[in-house]
Amino acid sequence: MPEKMKAAVFRGEKDIHIEEVPVPEAGPGEAIVRTTLTTICGTDSHIWRKEYPVREGRIVGHEPAGVIHELGVGVSGYQIGDRVVVGAITPCGACFYCMNGQWAQCAGYDNKWEPIGGWRLGNSMDGAQAEYFRVPYAQANLARIPDGLSEEDVLLVTDIASTGISGAESAGVSIGDTVVVYAQGPIGLCAAAGAKLMGASLVIGVDGLDYRLEMAKKMGADVVINYRAQDPVAEVKRLTEGRGADVAIEALGKQETFENSLRSVRPGGIVSSLGVYAGKLEVPLEPFIYGIGDVKVVSTLCPGGKERLRRLMEMVKHGRLNLRQLLTHRFRLEQIEEAYDLFSNQRDNVFKVAITP
Ligand SMILES: [Zn+2]
Ligand SMILES: [Zn+2]
Repeated sequence: MPEKMKAAVFRGEKDIHIEEVPVPEAGPGEAIVRTTLTTICGTDSHIWRKEYPVREGRIVGHEPAGVIHELGVGVSGYQIGDRVVVGAITPCGACFYCMNGQWAQCAGYDNKWEPIGGWRLGNSMDGAQAEYFRVPYAQANLARIPDGLSEEDVLLVTDIASTGISGAESAGVSIGDTVVVYAQGPIGLCAAAGAKLMGASLVIGVDGLDYRLEMAKKMGADVVINYRAQDPVAEVKRLTEGRGADVAIEALGKQETFENSLRSVRPGGIVSSLGVYAGKLEVPLEPFIYGIGDVKVVSTLCPGGKERLRRLMEMVKHGRLNLRQLLTHRFRLEQIEEAYDLFSNQRDNVFKVAITP
């Protein structure tokens, strides 16, 4: 067993670089996975810019596929060498929140809830942009990759597909609904895919970049709107006989897209908010119909756990969901600085980068 490994370590603003660190060891209930493929998340870019706090020296990354390398005491039903994915959110499966079905809000065995506490990898513990990483609560979080699927096919179930699709699920999209999705980055694209899978008759994708709107048509949108050329709210109204959409999904985390989402739904409609907002979010009264329009606003954090991942991988396996097409760029782990620069600055029409140790 190698004693040292390469890992991407956060050291300060725009400083995530490769260091040699010890290979982690599995404690009781844990596993060590040898990473075969991983990627960079928008949240990692926030860490890279020092906009989201993690401690200096933290190994970053939370979207991995790999092979089981070591199993700690008490983890059963798995073999060394099994191909697995592990979600961004690693619930314990036993706390108050997990037992109530809110996996993302997991408070861990010590039952101490913190915001995004279920997000551990690359946040409150070392993450997966490394040759090996430690999986907490392994029994609840090691999800075997079905035979016939590659790491590339399923990598994005770990975060963006789970998050994006949950935007449609939390809104309870029904057969025949019109759904508008604000922002067509990786998460918004998966939200559009989720809305279509749940039976929406019309999915409208809004963004300001044409290459994203092109991808939106491949992922689930029937109609796309470039907000630089057209007023998206007026266009949504036009497409729905003046009523507004049944559901609007906000997938960016900005005041403007939240407000446009409110303005886009009909009375009794649902705004499903996926974005992570900074500072203050205001609810203007007129589009909120003065609080008496029967409008619902729901929010969701990436659902985690192996059963969630199994379900999403089944969708990929049976051709309902194509996530591989979002992996537009490839890097080796040693090139992680280049990958952060490209991804965080959204250069070269990037959607997601595939990183191979
Ligand atoms: Zn993420
Ligand atoms: Zn829990």
